[in-house]
Amino acid sequence: MCGVLGIYGNEGVFAEILSGLNTIQHRGQDSAGIVTLKGIFHIKKGLGLVNEVFRDGSVLPGKCGIGHVRYATQGSTGLENAQPFTVNYPFGLAMAHNGNVTNFEALRHSLSQDHHRLLETTSDIELIAYQMVLALEKRDLHKLSPTDIFEAIQEVQKTVEGAYAVVAVIAGFGLLGFTGPHGIRPLLLGRKGQNYAITSETTTLDYLGYELVHEFEGNESVFIDKNRELYLSKGQASKPAFCVFESIYFAREDSRFKNRLVAAQREALGRLLAKHFTREGLKPDIIIDVPSSSYFCAQGIAEELGIPLRRGLVKNNYIGRSFIAHGQKQREKLVKQKHNAISEIIKDKRIAVVDDSIVRGTTAKHIVGLLKQRGAKEVYFVSASPQLKHPCVYGIDVSEKEMILSERTVEDVRKLIGAEALIYPTLEDLYEVFPKNKHCAACFSGEYPTRLSSEVFSLAEREKINAGRLE
Ligand code: AMP
Repeated sequence: MCGVLGIYGNEGVFAEILSGLNTIQHRGQDSAGIVTLKGIFHIKKGLGLVNEVFRDGSVLPGKCGIGHVRYATQGSTGLENAQPFTVNYPFGLAMAHNGNVTNFEALRHSLSQDHHRLLETTSDIELIAYQMVLALEKRDLHKLSPTDIFEAIQEVQKTVEGAYAVVAVIAGFGLLGFTGPHGIRPLLLGRKGQNYAITSETTTLDYLGYELVHEFEGNESVFIDKNRELYLSKGQASKPAFCVFESIYFAREDSRFKNRLVAAQREALGRLLAKHFTREGLKPDIIIDVPSSSYFCAQGIAEELGIPLRRGLVKNNYIGRSFIAHGQKQREKLVKQKHNAISEIIKDKRIAVVDDSIVRGTTAKHIVGLLKQRGAKEVYFVSASPQLKHPCVYGIDVSEKEMILSERTVEDVRKLIGAEALIYPTLEDLYEVFPKNKHCAACFSGEYPTRLSSEVFSLAEREKINAGRLE
């Protein structure tokens, strides 16, 4: 998962891109980068958080540029894979994306064998960029029109399979944004006066003072030319399949997708989860959240059941991402440093504790243990998302091998994490909040919206091992 941002603004757009990237920092902390255009591409990329990469005070000139924050889901976490990616032929092209290309191997093979490209990275953005180059090369380079650009993008959308939301600058022409088939990953367009911003989340638009003018569906593209004229192309119709995990976990609660506030979607899921308590005869004294993505879900449960919502767990925001740490020992160590429980709130109570998801179970096991250590009488663990059983090949970076439920029953997991009860929403609950005909819930249902080759899962797993993202 990553975050993208492109702005066609005023001279000094770099400052706006920099502060915009900070608003989507939660989408990726492996690397950050910005490219602006003024005569040439001005590029700065580095490993780590946005403020770490740009700590040296560098300023890039120009009115138009793109930025990226990366959470590696394809390729290693090294600097060579930091985005934006640039090429200089047939035009200067800078590009960044969020998502995952599923026909990665086939595209790599055809680019290197049939088109003799020397690929420099192990990231899928290079493949998208070169597909765009191949499509642009076929056009009359002296008279490139918005129609030519859209036709080139449509060729890319036909060739590149999987999930992607892309921002790009074509030197001398303008700013573009486009989505892959089904619109699995988010992309939004905002306007402020004559200026345009294309971003992964509406929260960026709120912070930068842009008004939302369009949310991309699948196979859509926008182009803003150097006179700030806006062009929109719908591309080939495709069934919408927006990722539900965006709303459940990845996005900020103050973001909006499809005109619905993420916080409200989480709360609605919580209200549906409440009936599982009634059905199972569970009567917690308090509801607490595992900070902070499940807060609104916990609130929904609490309000529906009429039980107090308390902040019983405190998170240390300065501990790195335990989820992607190498090795189970290291993950457990980080998870331990991440949360503390407040005994005064927990002691002698029956606690329902809500987290957004259970993947390997590392967090759930630790939290249940911690709550008991602080004197909880009983712990009911609640996952805001249904049982995670199928690998995501669209950029969530969880393989089947890692999932605690892949070879266990829910009862096995309950025992393993040491909880008195374990509650998941059903797929029907999920579809009530996120209609099935408009969303991708493949990691829960096993129903994948895109064409997938039979070996895609084993290739994805091998790639993850080779890139050092899976033991
Ligand atoms: P685990 O501890 O392996 O069960 O992972 C679950 C925890 O990791 C939850 O607290 C989530 O907030 C977080 N999480 C779930 N999926 C991801 C993901 N793809 N990347 C990073 N963190 C995640």
